[in-house]
Amino acid sequence: MPENQVITCRNFHTGTWHDASEGLIERNNPATGELAAIAPRSSPADVDAAVTSAATAFRTWRRTLPADRARYLHELAAECAHRVDDMAAAITREQGKPLDEARGEVRKFITALHYYAEEAQRVFGRTIPNDAAGFTSIVEKDPLGPVAGIVPWNYPIELIGWKLAGATAAGCTIVIKPSEHTPGCAQVLSECVAAVFPSGVVNFVHGDGGTGQALVEHPAIRKVAFTGSMRTGQSIFRSVNGITGLSLELGGSCPMIVTERADIDAAITGAARRSFRNAGQICIAINRIYVQDRVYDEFLTGLAAAADALHVADGMEFPSADVGSMTMEETYRRTLDHIEDARERGASVVAGGGPVAELKPGLFLRPTVVADAPDEALVMHEETFGPLVGVSRFSDLDDVIERANAAPGGLAAYAYTDDTRETFALARELDFGNVAVNNVDAGIMNAPYGGRRESGFGSEHGHEGLESYLQLKHIRLRHGAQ
Ligand code: NAD
Repeated sequence: MPENQVITCRNFHTGTWHDASEGLIERNNPATGELAAIAPRSSPADVDAAVTSAATAFRTWRRTLPADRARYLHELAAECAHRVDDMAAAITREQGKPLDEARGEVRKFITALHYYAEEAQRVFGRTIPNDAAGFTSIVEKDPLGPVAGIVPWNYPIELIGWKLAGATAAGCTIVIKPSEHTPGCAQVLSECVAAVFPSGVVNFVHGDGGTGQALVEHPAIRKVAFTGSMRTGQSIFRSVNGITGLSLELGGSCPMIVTERADIDAAITGAARRSFRNAGQICIAINRIYVQDRVYDEFLTGLAAAADALHVADGMEFPSADVGSMTMEETYRRTLDHIEDARERGASVVAGGGPVAELKPGLFLRPTVVADAPDEALVMHEETFGPLVGVSRFSDLDDVIERANAAPGGLAAYAYTDDTRETFALARELDFGNVAVNNVDAGIMNAPYGGRRESGFGSEHGHEGLESYLQLKHIRLRHGAQ
């Protein structure tokens, strides 16, 4: 087990380490309050140096053979495999998820590196017949240029990974701005990058929203790949100049529908997992569950029991705990507010309901289920981002699909039914970028993943996650051959 050391972070660009000019950010362990990491707060000048590094490296990286890019990505995966425990311990100390879960996150990140290493070699253009003899049109795909990758704290390594791997596989270079709340694990990752990649291909610049803003506005950035809140996403949308490429992976309020034809035990297991894993701090966490009348009581009793059975503990001390500390005081408070709001609107708390007293002042909340939550309750339409789920009844399938679609975001939706007609109706009518039926793992590495409506646009994962870093070029050749 790695020692409980404070990680000192530095910016990484032009192949070397740099201090920043605007002071330091301290990050404390949310479970214990102890200092976990210190990171630079980067100024626009620091950002400019990192982007210049990426722009310089792009001139040669864009010409590397796909097979060579694949080799670098596989090598980075191997380097990271040696540092799984270091990265996972840093995640747990900064972000709060239990150590085994953090190790799982790092392993999934490594899988993404291998996946995009292979996908790098599957970028094809096409030839198009012309309407005049002696001409051929070729369509080629070129990398966009230097990319800005800006990420949140809830999956601090995996979310960097999708951008780093997709962009570099496509022939782009990248400047990554980790979250100011999880800089230490990004530092470990940047050390792996430093050991493998040529100078300037992958750069790290630490800082808060001001640093992110300077990165977004830098004129040499050709695409911003952003994951984070709706509020910041909307601000970035207004800041980019309209020509810079943009993908926005934002939050949402994800529904689950359980019909009377579902396997209720499977639905309960799925609901407990996707509502409370990572203390509910998942963009695709289930926020609200609609259950058909006839099976409502059975489902509710089972879900309350499953929530109460979850082990909430400090994830360093108990690596296999089910739920660790929440990451941020702000989301901890919001979760308590959403519980209170639901109560005031007539819902009843059937599991959890508040802090784990013996783990205070750590940010530990008991997994909470509120029953009979009205649609107006905040938990039923706003993203809580905590270990809270609201449950409500329905009788008619068309009505409940309308209620599920009513929230502004459209990231992921879940449904449980064993009826074929219901399966297709739900899969087709739920207006979300990802719909999972009879399972709760809405995102897999080789299928496109993205949101609709206020949850953003663009795709990560899958071949689409690589194509999003490419642009088309039409080359019309007059060769004279008939
Ligand atoms: P956030 O928007 O506060 O911060 C995300 C990142 O943006 C951080 O690195 C932050 O420093 C940076 N930032 C802040 N202001 C900026 C600005 N003006 N310009 C550029 N960068 C700026 O989000 P958060 O609280 O860190 O993350 C939680 C949110 O992320 C939730 O809403 C969650 O749903 C969402 N999320 C979405 C997905 C997805 O795939 N759709 C995945 C994970 C998290």
